[in-house]
Amino acid sequence: MRYHSTRGAAPVLDFRGATLAGLASDGGLYVPESWPTLTANQIADLAGLSYAETAVRIMLPFVGDTLSEEELRDLCEQAYGRFSHAAVTPLVQLDHDQWLLELFHGPTLAFKDVALQLLGLLFEKFLTGSTRRLTIIGATSGDTGSAAIDAVAGREGIDIFMLHPAGRVSDVQRRQMTTVLAPNVHNIAIEGDFDQAQALVKTMFATQALADRFSLSAVNSINWARLMAQVVYYFYAAVRLGAPGKAIAFSVPTGNFGDVFAGYVAARMGLPVERLVVATNVNDILHRALSSGDYSKGKVEQTATPSMDIQVSSNFERLLFDLGGRDGAAMAAQMRGFDASGAMRLTNAQQQGAAGLFASARVDGNDMALAMRWACEHAGETIDPHTAIALSAARALDTTAPVVTLATAHPAKFRDAVERATGLRPGLPARVGDLFDREERYVTLPATLAAVGDYVAAHATPSA
Ligand SMILES: *Cc1c(COP(=O)(O)O)cnc(C)c1O
Repeated sequence: MRYHSTRGAAPVLDFRGATLAGLASDGGLYVPESWPTLTANQIADLAGLSYAETAVRIMLPFVGDTLSEEELRDLCEQAYGRFSHAAVTPLVQLDHDQWLLELFHGPTLAFKDVALQLLGLLFEKFLTGSTRRLTIIGATSGDTGSAAIDAVAGREGIDIFMLHPAGRVSDVQRRQMTTVLAPNVHNIAIEGDFDQAQALVKTMFATQALADRFSLSAVNSINWARLMAQVVYYFYAAVRLGAPGKAIAFSVPTGNFGDVFAGYVAARMGLPVERLVVATNVNDILHRALSSGDYSKGKVEQTATPSMDIQVSSNFERLLFDLGGRDGAAMAAQMRGFDASGAMRLTNAQQQGAAGLFASARVDGNDMALAMRWACEHAGETIDPHTAIALSAARALDTTAPVVTLATAHPAKFRDAVERATGLRPGLPARVGDLFDREERYVTLPATLAAVGDYVAAHATPSA
């Protein structure tokens, strides 16, 4: 399998190359050159398979010859063996046709573990036997940082530097990062907000003195391997609810469009998907784009669902590229226009292509709280605010198909918001129970390239 950039001007890479690169050198995102498909019989054969074995069947065609089937199976068993539920991503029934797909049984209690646990192992595997080292630099408003750190802590050939805005992540989120004491993990609290932390990361990637000495890499959802890993649970859930004989709808709490794009890939691979609901909070750029073709930035509003407080959804470019005829030059021109003006129109092909499969909804804080209370009162389930955004949209969907809401975080990660809406304060699961007794380690630095760049240069290992 070969991977092309959505902007058409970066080298074509194999799976190993695309995984290690993350972002394409022309500013685009890597996508597979074609979608492998499963026949109805092959989908039916997934019934009863373990999560790890399902993952092998779904991911093998994307991996191509960069890993053997045995090697891939070994990585999947390791990655998903670290989840606290034997089903890895169990389904929970809420009422006659509403279901939750619980994606938060990984080590850091958010769905990002599903992809990052595998990505950490892929990095290590692909670096073994080479002199190349990776220096991962990222900025986090919470969930990505802890999931990425857990995934690469102690792994050979990798250093990770994670920037978080000092005092602006929750205690649980900070401790999940700063109590990981492995020597390759470097937590930096930035005296500034998340946007400043993210801007610093971008500047470091563009700083030649760093890029020349270190092999810099990113772990956000622009990395294709993360999306590939997320395709698996759409198949896993759908076959348990009757696919391929029955079409299933999914409602997805959406920020960067990574999770829901994985659902699109599942549909392209042959899974009968009745609808993909893109559920946004009041930061609704994706809802406006899908309902009226208007993709234009607003100002980010802070909400109780911080992982969905975004202005620009990087992975949306992958959808626009695929629906727009896979024309890299046209995509590059469309994105240049967007970068210059902060707005663009979807083409007719893009709009019509999306309309066949996607629905979208904008859910405000009031409807989010109502959905949390409904889940408590009608099914005895405590859900996190992100999940509640998608559940609200799921319940409003006009369909006779079973609707699966993706539950993206454990409610304990957002205890204050859950308590405000429901009066119940979820306890931390036993596996992270001593989080507040563990030693923390991090440095606090001013939000300047001089301070942070020097720190990285002094603590990272140069790539040979
Ligand atoms: C990251 C995240 C999301 C958004 O997922 P995208 O792939 O960015 O659309 C939703 N909910 C939670 C809890 C998250 O951590």
